[in-house]
Amino acid sequence: MDRADGLAHYRKRFAGAETDLVYFDGNSLGRPPLSAIERMGDFMRDGWGERLIRGWDEAWLQLPVEIGDRIGRAVIEAKAGQTVIGDSTTVLLYKLARAAVDAQVARDPRRREIVVDTDNFPTDRYVLDGIANERGMKLRWIDVDISTGVSPEQLAEAVGPETALVVVSHVAYRSAYLADAPELTRIAHDAGALILWDLCHSAGSVPVRADAWGFDLAVGCTYKYLNGGPGSPAFAYVRDDLQAVITQPIQGWFGTRDMFAMGPDYEPEPSIRRFLSGTSPIVGMLPMEETLAMIEEAGMPALRAKSVALTSFAITLADDWLGPLGVTLASPAESEERGGHVTLHHPAMREVTARLWQRDVIPDYRDPGGLRIGLSPLSTSFEEVHRGLAATRDVLKTVLLERAGLA
Ligand SMILES: *Cc1c(COP(=O)(O)O)cnc(C)c1O
Repeated sequence: MDRADGLAHYRKRFAGAETDLVYFDGNSLGRPPLSAIERMGDFMRDGWGERLIRGWDEAWLQLPVEIGDRIGRAVIEAKAGQTVIGDSTTVLLYKLARAAVDAQVARDPRRREIVVDTDNFPTDRYVLDGIANERGMKLRWIDVDISTGVSPEQLAEAVGPETALVVVSHVAYRSAYLADAPELTRIAHDAGALILWDLCHSAGSVPVRADAWGFDLAVGCTYKYLNGGPGSPAFAYVRDDLQAVITQPIQGWFGTRDMFAMGPDYEPEPSIRRFLSGTSPIVGMLPMEETLAMIEEAGMPALRAKSVALTSFAITLADDWLGPLGVTLASPAESEERGGHVTLHHPAMREVTARLWQRDVIPDYRDPGGLRIGLSPLSTSFEEVHRGLAATRDVLKTVLLERAGLA
């Protein structure tokens, strides 16, 4: 399978991929591209070191929008001027969600509800709860099965004339359930609501068509499948016609029309820049450009095809080897409904994960009993998947024998 894989050669471009370590966590923190190591060195010496403060005017002020446009083009199919790199995903979620609900309430005071599902990523739920408290609004919860995600039927039932905003993850962080983004967007719009997509687990593994699917707002991580490094800044998408209609709550000088005028009042830049707040985290923006170059070259459809092949292979091995030991699939079995990772359930998985880490096999664990296997299409090989699942089988067998008092 590796020999037949047209993307196999990308693996060599990542640090550490030559070792025997099995990395099943590229969906939490991607491996570093080797070229990023050089790039960072050059930047320290020639960029920061030599250009010093001049670097801002010469290049850095434009980077949040330049890289944003690149993500727009290569990763989420958004035309230029709608995507920007800024703060953490959490902070961007806050800024966009607050901006959206304020605009909705101003338009129609009855719209006082935010719709979100009970298994959305914790930070999304916490941020929305905070906004609801701050604005005297209400959260309307969609109760989801943790091995799937939000269905169109569930969303249709939850939205109505009181909905201001809907927030959904495109790929569920736990189950990898791939939401029907165009359909959920249509349902939210039919109810007069805005929708904010969390693309953290899809950006760089599942194609997204932000413009064609009619997205209003979106945010996404860059340290997962985009290999930006720990804490690399997130991206925000705001559809162009909404940019002047919504007002983000953290009015900082980086979002103003003429930041060096240092004027008496906040006057936001008319463009996507108005969603910036403070000094851009330039150092953290550089590594992701190396992955963006690879995605531009390979194209998202090829990445998605490899991702589906990897998750399908992992599921086949899990069925054969782990099914007989009582392991069940806690992700969608159909590849059209699944993102780039696979969650396997067994009550012993917490201990299995700890022992796998000792053997340099690195998946992660999510309660209850979920072993989560993230398969990054540019850096993961089929051989690696095979070795990792064989190790999982061996470790689980040992744990079960020990628990039965037989080993
Ligand atoms: C990883 C992830 C986040 C992380 O937010 P940070 O602010 O970067 O910590 C948010 N949402 C989802 C769906 C995620 O998977």
